[in-house]
Amino acid sequence: MHVKPKKHLGQHFLKNPEICERIAAAMTGYGDYKTILEIGPGTGALTAWLLKLNAYTTHVAEIDTESVDYLRAYYPELRERIITKDFLQLPLNEMFDGQLAIAGNFPYNISSQILFKILDHKQQIPEMVGMFQKEVALRAAGNPGSKDYGILSVLLQAYYDAEYLFTVDEHEFDPPPKVKSGVIRIQRKPEQPFGCDEKKFKLVVKTAFNQRRKMLRGSIKSLLNPNVDITLPIFSMRPEQLSVQDFKDLTNMLSQ
Ligand code: SAH
Repeated sequence: MHVKPKKHLGQHFLKNPEICERIAAAMTGYGDYKTILEIGPGTGALTAWLLKLNAYTTHVAEIDTESVDYLRAYYPELRERIITKDFLQLPLNEMFDGQLAIAGNFPYNISSQILFKILDHKQQIPEMVGMFQKEVALRAAGNPGSKDYGILSVLLQAYYDAEYLFTVDEHEFDPPPKVKSGVIRIQRKPEQPFGCDEKKFKLVVKTAFNQRRKMLRGSIKSLLNPNVDITLPIFSMRPEQLSVQDFKDLTNMLSQ
C-alpha cells in the first residue's frame, strides 16, 4: 500500500524516524492533558512515536482518505480515534473533554490558521509541539528586536510561551518541501488578567505592524486621540522593538 503525496494537501512525509521521535519526546504533559490530537498524520510517521507515549491517548485528524485507509490498515489500535475531517472545521470543545495537546508535522498551507485556531481554543489547549515551515516557526517563537518578530509572535506570545526547538532539512521529507522546517513548542501562560482590552490590543498590534518600518506615532495615527502624549519615547519606536507588555501598555494609553 502506497500513499501518493498530494501537493494540494501539503503532503510531505517525514522519512527520518529520529526526527519523529524527537518531536514526540518534546511533549511534556504541561497543563495536565491526557489527550493528544495529531493534525495531519499522513502515513503515521510521527503517530507511531506518539502512540508509544503511555501517558497520553493519541487521536488524529486527517483529511486525506487515502492516508486514512493506510492508517486503518497499519495502525489497528488507532482505528477508533481517526477523525476523517479538516482540522480547521473541528468543534474541539464538543469532541474532547478536558485538556488537549496538539502535535504534528503540519500541512504548511494552513500553518497560520492552525495557530489561530489554537489561540481560539486556548482554554482547552495547554501545549502544542509541531513542525511548520521554518519561517513560520521562527515568527511564532520570535523575540522583540529580531527580524522574525511580528503580528503572529505578539498575538501568540500574549497567551503562550513559545520555544524554537530545532531545524529540519528539506531532505528529511518525501517529497522534499522547497523550504527548511522548524519545530516549536508552545505552552499556555498561567492564567492572569490580560491587563488591557484584548480586542483593542489585537487592533493595535496589527495596525502597528502593517507599517513596520514606521515609528509608532506614524503607523498608529488612526488610533491616537488628543489625550495621548505622542512625545513619549515609545512613539518613536518601531513595532518590532515592543514586547507583549509594551503593546499592552500602549493599548491602555490609547484607551484613555
Ligand atoms: N505527519 C505526516 C504527514 C505530514 S504532511 C508525516 O510527518 O509524514 C501533512 C498532512 O496533513 C498530510 O497527510 C495532509 O493530508 C494532512 N492535511 C492537510 N490539510 C489538512 C487539514 N485541513 N486537516 C487535517 N489534515 C490535513
